[in-house]
This record gives sequence, C-alpha cells and structure tokens, in this order.
Amino acid sequence: MAGGGNAIRGSRVGAGPMGEAERGEAAPRQAVSYYCSHEHRVVVAFSVEATVPDSWDCPKCGLPASRDSENPPPAPKIEPYKTHLAYVKERRSDKEAEDILDEALSLLRSRRASGDLIF
Ligand SMILES: [Zn+2]
Repeated sequence: MAGGGNAIRGSRVGAGPMGEAERGEAAPRQAVSYYCSHEHRVVVAFSVEATVPDSWDCPKCGLPASRDSENPPPAPKIEPYKTHLAYVKERRSDKEAEDILDEALSLLRSRRASGDLIF
C-alpha cells in the first residue's frame, strides 16, 4: 500500500523503533521511559509534538520518576515530616490531655467548693 504520499513527513523521531512512524494511522508518538527510585520503569507515550516532562509520577508507588535511569529522583523525605507531624500530634494530644485534666480538676474543685450537694 504505497499510497503516493510515501515521503517521510517531518522529522523522524530519533529513538523510535524503525519504521513505526510511517504507518500513518495516528499521530506519531514517542515512548518515554521514566524510572523511580524503587526501580520501577514507567513507559509513557507522548505525541512527538508534546512537551515531554522531565519527571513523571510513578503509578506504582507514587514517587517521582525521572528520565534518567542512572539517577532517579530521591524519594521525598517523609521521615522528618512524619516526625514533625508526630511531634505536633503529641504536643496537641498533650495539650488536649492537659485541657481535659484542667477541666476535670476545675470541675472537681468547683464541685468541692459548692459543698456536698453532689455527693
Ligand atoms: Zn515506583
């Protein structure tokens, strides 16, 4: 099926498999591989006209993946955040506990102060 227009249109994408761009069914695409720090490889197909992003979120683990297999982006450091969060939580619950204790104490005191009506 050499339908006349067999000329190579535009520029051929360098890395693409041979001949693929000549089928002419869909817009030529390029497969871009991304690598996350968990060694997942994600292949995303972009139109050759699309701007290929430098990083992609790994669909398997959610970490950022980069196009450089030698140098995947480091996993975001969750630990300090976690620790911080835990710290905040701890503080908050301490504060809450304090408040509750305070409340209980003042309630107790006010009950005491108001005599033995309660008991
Ligand atoms: Zn991953």
